[in-house]
Amino acid sequence: MAGIYVHIPFCKKACHYCDFHFTTTQYYRDEIIKQLANEIEQRKNYLTERTVNTIYFGGGTPSILNEEELSLLMNSIHKKFSIAEKTEITLEANPDDLSIEKLLMLKKTGINRLSIGVQSFRDEDLKWMNRAHDAIHAKQAVINAASAGFNNISIDLIYGLPTSKLADWKKNLEEAVTLPVQHLSCYCLTVEDNTALHHFIKKGKVIEKKDEVSSEEFLMAHEFLTGNGFEHYEISNYGLRNFHSRHNSSYWDNEPYLGIGPSAHSYNGISRQWNVANNIQYLNSMKEGKLLFEKEELSIEQQFNEYLMTRLRTSSGISMEYIESFFGEIYADELRQKISAYEIPSHFEIKNNNLQLTIEGMLKLNSIVIEWMK
Ligand code: SF4
Repeated sequence: MAGIYVHIPFCKKACHYCDFHFTTTQYYRDEIIKQLANEIEQRKNYLTERTVNTIYFGGGTPSILNEEELSLLMNSIHKKFSIAEKTEITLEANPDDLSIEKLLMLKKTGINRLSIGVQSFRDEDLKWMNRAHDAIHAKQAVINAASAGFNNISIDLIYGLPTSKLADWKKNLEEAVTLPVQHLSCYCLTVEDNTALHHFIKKGKVIEKKDEVSSEEFLMAHEFLTGNGFEHYEISNYGLRNFHSRHNSSYWDNEPYLGIGPSAHSYNGISRQWNVANNIQYLNSMKEGKLLFEKEELSIEQQFNEYLMTRLRTSSGISMEYIESFFGEIYADELRQKISAYEIPSHFEIKNNNLQLTIEGMLKLNSIVIEWMK
């Protein structure tokens, strides 16, 4: 099973915490969209499979695209790939873009799943994040999406915000489950270098929330959402049955994918590569027919470490049988020894022959991975 990711590197506003690749200017937008279509055609042979099971428009803000732009990209994909009957086609959208008119256009163009960047239903949080929408937009966008006929809707929420208390986070979760959403991604606020947030913290204008408080919020989301019928299938992701993100799951399942656009990553099972994260350089290199990218061949040791890192995030966990057959007995034996020497057995459990982290274990994910990796 293969997937395609298309990166749309434009946003209306820069959110204070964001370190994704984007620009708030619309310079070269037409040319870049044309080159994205061109890259889809040029790199059609990157995936050995022609049939694509998932397509994901991420960014940036893909909901900024108009009908002509989105149709151009979809047509390029259709021309060069075979789209499976039930292909999941997701578009990341910001609430302020989701008028009924826009939503009907998205549906007509073939989008069948929306990932809406709600982040919070509280104006205070949204202002602090410098989001382009307010709380009314956030709620209305989801309602509009359902009215336009979308029945596979995900929303993103952020916890660990210095502006909100535990009770505020609970209210956000309560608000979310009153809406017609089938999936939620709950991310902890992280402070990335070179973001406005990083600068504010360095200047003492913002005080980071303590890890213990963010952990409480993580546990609250787990308890509340699983109590409301959502399956906690990946550390940050919850879905109703049959509504897990197939595109993101394919990353965790080591499936190949083709990444299109500036900063997009691709993986073919042997190597990873990532396009230059600069719009002008991307544009010029595409025009010259020499896409700028970096590439890394993964050693068996790196593949093993990635397997641990990604699979321990999921509710499926790691399979010792797979480790033995794919990486060899030495890897499996060494890992077994590390697992038996691990001091807190309540951090993991064995289910269906797989080792899975418990919810307490997930809070310690990073230290567990470091301890168990090669
Ligand atoms: S809209 Fe998304 S990609 Fe754009 S700045 Fe905000 S968080 Fe980053």
